[in-house]
Amino acid sequence: MKRIAVLTSGGDAPGMNSAVRAVARTGMFYNMEVYGIRSGYKGLIDNDIFKMNLSSVGDIIQRGGTFLFTARSEEFMTPEGRKKAFNNLLNEGIDGLVVIGGDGSFRGALELEKMGVKVIGVPGTIDNDIFGTEYTIGFDTAVNNVIGSIDKIRDTATSHERIFIIEVMGRNSGWIALKSGISGGAESVLIPEISPDYDLMSERIARGITRGKRHSIIIVAEGVASAYEVAEELKKRTELESRVVVLGHTQRGGAPSANDRYLSAKMGYTAVQYLREGKSGLMTALVGGEIVGITLKESVENKKDIDINDYDIAALLAI
Ligand code: ADP
Repeated sequence: MKRIAVLTSGGDAPGMNSAVRAVARTGMFYNMEVYGIRSGYKGLIDNDIFKMNLSSVGDIIQRGGTFLFTARSEEFMTPEGRKKAFNNLLNEGIDGLVVIGGDGSFRGALELEKMGVKVIGVPGTIDNDIFGTEYTIGFDTAVNNVIGSIDKIRDTATSHERIFIIEVMGRNSGWIALKSGISGGAESVLIPEISPDYDLMSERIARGITRGKRHSIIIVAEGVASAYEVAEELKKRTELESRVVVLGHTQRGGAPSANDRYLSAKMGYTAVQYLREGKSGLMTALVGGEIVGITLKESVENKKDIDINDYDIAALLAI
């Protein structure tokens, strides 16, 4: 394989830059020509493709977001759009593609594979909701961002004896809520995988206050309900007032954590090794501390579950 390309697609995730850098540098080390595609599949359709050199990826490892930009592309969902994308790869003589993104991006990659492109997926999403890998790129940074916010909010919560309800990202997945709830010491965590028990939540908050807790923090994943709705549910049951904080996009930005940079570097490196070995249709996955290849098909066809033990631990530790 002489010419490969890399793109980032779907939601941005801190650490994507480190993955692009690893793909570019590994490819160039093996004398491949490496192309960057801007704005995901949209840029592939628009032929926004450029040849990278060693310094194209200099000074980006520490930056959040993705310097290749990312986008969602309706056109790529159509066979005509994909044909344009495929032809652009063909015209550039690119025969291998690394797609850094979430499961939607992987479905797109599988479509390109059907047309004859060799593709490798690298899981990049803050949600950690990709089946087959223990961690995805960006999750660790997002959780660190959330616990940074919890710590700050907790100062005020304790000083004023207040209840805070913090809404975090996770439309379908409670990974961010659960990990940051345990790591940030939240009193209660609500996740989409388990239907909310507002009676239990309210009882625990009231009990904590009775036993002298000066602060109470409830973490709610956006997929469960809005933090304002949770505040209403609490008020209905206990008469307790609470404050709401919606963290929103502050969770995604900022410098990637060491874990995310390291994971990205190893996954980007491995993706190119797979292409060199002539492999295709694989996703780089972290399993038991090792980077291994699992099929993209298996990954997109399965749903990654949260660790239910974590849910129980979160409750137990907040007693
Ligand atoms: P993520 O990769 O983060 O899950 P999306 O689900 O938005 O993000 O997917 C990113 C892009 O991948 C979409 O805008 C679309 O262009 C492409 N894509 C998603 N699903 C498919 C599919 N089933 N077939 C072809 N392309 C897809």
